[in-house]
Amino acid sequence: MDPITELLAEVLEEIRPIDSGAPAAYIPELATADPDLLAFAVVGPRGRVRSVGDDRAEFTIQSISKPFVLALALEEHGLDAVLGRVGAEPSGEPFNAISLEPITGRPANPMINAGAIATSALVPGDDVELRTARIADLLSAFAGRSLWVDEAVYSSESLTGERNRALAHLLKSHGVIDGPVDVAVETYFRQCSLLVSVRDLAIMAATLAFGGVNPVTGERVVGERVARDVLSIMSSCGMYDFSGEWLLRVGLPAKSGVSGGLMAVAPSQFGVAAFSPRLDQHGNSVRAVALVEAASERFGMHLLEPHESVASPAMTMHGDDAGRVVRLGGELGYAGAERIVAVLRELSEGLPAGEPLTVDARELGRTHPGALIALRGEFADLPDWVWLKE
Ligand code: GLU
Repeated sequence: MDPITELLAEVLEEIRPIDSGAPAAYIPELATADPDLLAFAVVGPRGRVRSVGDDRAEFTIQSISKPFVLALALEEHGLDAVLGRVGAEPSGEPFNAISLEPITGRPANPMINAGAIATSALVPGDDVELRTARIADLLSAFAGRSLWVDEAVYSSESLTGERNRALAHLLKSHGVIDGPVDVAVETYFRQCSLLVSVRDLAIMAATLAFGGVNPVTGERVVGERVARDVLSIMSSCGMYDFSGEWLLRVGLPAKSGVSGGLMAVAPSQFGVAAFSPRLDQHGNSVRAVALVEAASERFGMHLLEPHESVASPAMTMHGDDAGRVVRLGGELGYAGAERIVAVLRELSEGLPAGEPLTVDARELGRTHPGALIALRGEFADLPDWVWLKE
């Protein structure tokens, strides 16, 4: 076992004894889940999947489908059109609340059922089958393998889904969804019934972490901006009415589902997923929350923690006939620009006056326009034999 997998196994064993909560019972088929199942997986930038516990056990994706179907709607219609149908505000209410804006009937956000039914209704296709196929194709690309529906869970949910049906009728009455209510709601039930394992969820989370590129298959699944938009909404709305406290304690965009799955995203670092069917009063898996919280702590993943790398782009020095060259690599953000200039100032003081010093910025992987403006501005104050090559 490699050291990271060992660390995951250690965290898993620490969390295993927690036995509070119970599997969801309002969808009868979910109540039959083995409450002791427990799994944890992490996927990094090179697409290496590390997983422990019941990592091959399959369960229905439930609400964790919501961010991916949101991604589909965003790709298809753009942010403004989607925001015309569904908001981006945390509701502070349970997942199945009738959280609709008073006049427009727009649901609070796409992570609660009302908003998810509205986003699912934006998926193109004339019937349930075509829409489900579109959704399954996209989610399969996120997971890097073919996903399909658990028919028993789908039937169970459809037979007992009157509240979701009622929400869909309300949405239809406000003109938030077009087309037949049945098509919208049955498509939504089928998307929730797609089967995944914790490994799938970690890869799906990693695809969001790496700007929409699946790190296992190398495929670009959605655009970088769409991935960012989805993560933004997950940050404020992904954990039902526990979203604020989750951001405080764990600091990662995340989404949970009532079958006990949970995925979290450390942008540019990891996709993480956990699974355990026993839920707390918010509908979040008790042990999955504990696993991801422990991982965030140990890997230092809280988003709002200061990160050195943002402030220190890679710099390598070379000397040639034309003088010294400082080559910049990696990503240049605002703080990095300031740091480069501080280093250059020190360096230029140690060099004989007039010996050219070239800063080669041509190999930067990514430069933010504001950072470049800051860097150019700072160059104005450096001796005139220090050059910036862009
Ligand atoms: N299919 C479930 C429902 O609509 C999803 C709920 C969830 O995972 O939050 O009730």
